[in-house]
Amino acid sequence: MSRDSEFDCTKCGLCCRCLRDNPAVKGTKLEKWDRGDGVCKHLTEDNLCDIYEDRPLICNVRKQYYAKYADKMSLEQYYEMQDNACEILKKTFAARNKERFGL
Ligand code: SF4
Ligand code: SF4
Repeated sequence: MSRDSEFDCTKCGLCCRCLRDNPAVKGTKLEKWDRGDGVCKHLTEDNLCDIYEDRPLICNVRKQYYAKYADKMSLEQYYEMQDNACEILKKTFAARNKERFGL
């Protein structure tokens, strides 16, 4: 997903590879950008976004905070919530790889 300079994104690209698994994607541009296998058509081979400056709100961690969460929690709490979501995603994919490939 994002190369948000203030959110500690590891650029694993998983959030851009599991559009179908994310209920928040439904009805957004991202749903149409699914290239057919759950991967966003804007994800490059090196896990970057080829429309980074113009990526939608859902992909912009910081902007999304100010648009939707600023009145509900601090930026620090929001980043923590995002970090947890990334960790769940990473564990889910690790489990899937283990199941599929025995890795
Ligand atoms: S899953 Fe999280 S760490 Fe990985 S690219 Fe997306 S925002 Fe960054
Ligand atoms: S638009 Fe960019 S940041 Fe958003 S899912 Fe696609 S590749 Fe990832």
